[in-house]
Amino acid sequence: MPNIYGLTKEDLENYFLSINDKKYRAIQVYEWLYKKRVKDIDLFSNIKKEIRDKLKNDFDTYFLKIVKKEEDGLAKKYLFKLYDDEYIEAVVMEHDYGTSICVSSQVGCNMACRFCESGRLKKVRNLEAYEMVEQILAVEEDLGIRLYSVVIMGIGEPLDNYDNVTKFIKIINDPKGIELGARHITLSTCGLVPKIYELSHFPIQINLAISLHAPTDELRNKLMPVNKVYNIPTLITAIKDYLQVTSRRVTLEYVMLNNVNDSIDHAKELAHLFKGMNIYVNLIPYNETNHLEFNRSSKTKIKAFYDELRKNGINVTIRKEFGSNIDAACGQLRGSMKK
Ligand code: SAH
Repeated sequence: MPNIYGLTKEDLENYFLSINDKKYRAIQVYEWLYKKRVKDIDLFSNIKKEIRDKLKNDFDTYFLKIVKKEEDGLAKKYLFKLYDDEYIEAVVMEHDYGTSICVSSQVGCNMACRFCESGRLKKVRNLEAYEMVEQILAVEEDLGIRLYSVVIMGIGEPLDNYDNVTKFIKIINDPKGIELGARHITLSTCGLVPKIYELSHFPIQINLAISLHAPTDELRNKLMPVNKVYNIPTLITAIKDYLQVTSRRVTLEYVMLNNVNDSIDHAKELAHLFKGMNIYVNLIPYNETNHLEFNRSSKTKIKAFYDELRKNGINVTIRKEFGSNIDAACGQLRGSMKK
């Protein structure tokens, strides 16, 4: 049975038409679910009992469970249990402009980036759209707030779960629903090139972030196995296409790994690759984990890398740090449950 939180408004409209009811009923349901946040279909008081019973019969309302919550200053981390006893995480961060959430898109991940905790545990399954929607609803309910922005940067590779992730984006973006603006939604990918081409035609103009992490194929091959399938030149061609089709700036994420990818020469190579393109680089201080051998670059080195990029005309920021004390590096909490 499909879950009611995994339906786009259009799905619901088609459903109501298929049962010979009115199309606008979809908006009423959306308002109950997402504006009034009522979970119990019996309480949808402007919908008559007969239709409510039909809804209950045709759709599941299963909701994921918060099983653990850790706090560290401005960051909070949630561990959720899914219907099949799998676990995923979301991290919530308070910024001066509002609160953001980092949601997971898969149970585990098959990309196996060497420095990433999530990739140590292989993908078990994709998340359904409703399981991503519910991460947002659960956190908003728990904190009694409305989130300002969503980044799809938790466990999993979102473009390896394209259909569910784009459905999720349609649901949360809908003005009759949660109404998160496209500019407040960011999808982060390790670089699944065919899906980047596809995403450039997705009608909701979200932000795209690419996990680059290395300026040469030689190094990127070592850090990110995906590079052996879609190498840097192939990826750059896809990014150029995306920029041309969408006219939206693309973010490049670059995690700073001590003595691995953080030299001045690396910065020069990176600048050379992207000179003149509408991109900006986000330097990410590495979250060290117990299981992996990588270390974080020093503040001095990060600053020198930053300066070198700027000197070469590249827009660059250093990611503000949140929650390294609560293992905010994605996958660490789920990893600790699996031990
Ligand atoms: N699969 C997607 C999204 C999930 S990973 C992607 O690769 O973009 C989200 C980001 O966190 C990626 O840039 C990833 O490389 C980075 N990351 C993974 N482990 C990290 C760690 N320990 N410290 C800092 N960033 C990390």
